[in-house]
Amino acid sequence: MRKLLFESLFRRPFTETAPSPDDAALSELAAAVGRAARRRLGRSLSIREVDAGSCNGCELEIHALNNAYYDVERFGLRFVASPRHADVLMVTGPVTKNMREALERTYHATPNPKWVVAVGDCARDGGCFAGSYAIVGGVAEVIPVDLHIPGCPPNPMTMLQGLLALLERVDAVAS
Ligand code: SF4
Repeated sequence: MRKLLFESLFRRPFTETAPSPDDAALSELAAAVGRAARRRLGRSLSIREVDAGSCNGCELEIHALNNAYYDVERFGLRFVASPRHADVLMVTGPVTKNMREALERTYHATPNPKWVVAVGDCARDGGCFAGSYAIVGGVAEVIPVDLHIPGCPPNPMTMLQGLLALLERVDAVAS
């Protein structure tokens, strides 16, 4: 036992090297989202995140957008604390029965024009929680959804691509 403890003090932890995202592709994509947001909204894009009942996996990936590596605020994308300041609602998880009313209220509190992005497989149709007595279903069962970003969970790059696709679609409809 003592030998084991002694060894564990000096042995390196068994961890795998993290995959390295493509720096250039990330910057290019985030800059494109920022440009599209400014073209459409004339300012930064404000996002309110709503957890309607997720396992928190999608939230961890959304939080990564704000970390020192992705740092999306430098491109004009910022997460806000109130739906009243938001352009986009990013909703995760299946909608639980307990969160249904809160999601509806958040949607109605968001000023127009507003867009709803359902993030993750659960947000589409309940995902692995589909059929549970505790959920209503996907986000579209409760509020209108403009875009769905698939994945369990989707990674930050996929979310940026989704936001860009949304802004391009909004531009196409407006012009
Ligand atoms: S899509 Fe996956 S990570 Fe996201 S809430 Fe559902 S189970 Fe969790």
